[in-house]
Amino acid sequence: MGQDTPTVDTVVLHYTGMKSAQAAIKRLCDPKAEVSAHYLVEENGVTHLLVDPTTRAWHAGVSYWQGREGLNHSSIGIELVNPGHEFGYVPFPTEQISSLVELLTELKTEFAIPISRFIGHSDIAPARKMDPGEYFPWELLAQYGFGVWPKSSTKNETILAKKGMVGPTVEWLNQSLSKIGYSVPVQTEFSSITETALAAFQRHWRPSAVTGSLDVGTKLALQEVEEQIETNKN
Ligand SMILES: [Zn+2]
Repeated sequence: MGQDTPTVDTVVLHYTGMKSAQAAIKRLCDPKAEVSAHYLVEENGVTHLLVDPTTRAWHAGVSYWQGREGLNHSSIGIELVNPGHEFGYVPFPTEQISSLVELLTELKTEFAIPISRFIGHSDIAPARKMDPGEYFPWELLAQYGFGVWPKSSTKNETILAKKGMVGPTVEWLNQSLSKIGYSVPVQTEFSSITETALAAFQRHWRPSAVTGSLDVGTKLALQEVEEQIETNKN
């Protein structure tokens, strides 16, 4: 065993963000592009193994989650074919999600991946990435045991804090984002780092209101997700 076979305990989900599946496969298999993922799932559910999941692929880039920098060495990357925000973002078809669930079922068993460690590219690189985005069915996946989901929710969108504000509510927000896993300094200022991390959180756990501001429903979601992650760490 070489030094390139460390423990894998995380799954990172992506969308391809390209016009077609063919273009995405070509790019992911091109050594010059210096990007790769372990799997690619087409819209019709056809799944391609691109890189053996026990070896490192180059899907995460500069990234951070729960105290760990650079997720390439400890995560499996799965690309879902979707044009993404740049080329006409569309909901993920049922066939694609069914195949993903099958794949995740195998990987969860093989690599003993904790429930809380199924995350999105935007979670680990919020300033650079939006994938797999707010159309991704995180709630459904959590029902299958992949990822956590708040037990209760409210649609209340009354704003509690936004960029530029300073104070204890903002400090609480930064602390909560940091505890969940985002790279956010715990301070009293609502910075642009806070805003992008909060938008990433909303894209994942409050997709009805991706604003980058703290509202009542987002606050409840933060509390619930923090608790769920703590409970399902291992
Ligand atoms: Zn990605």
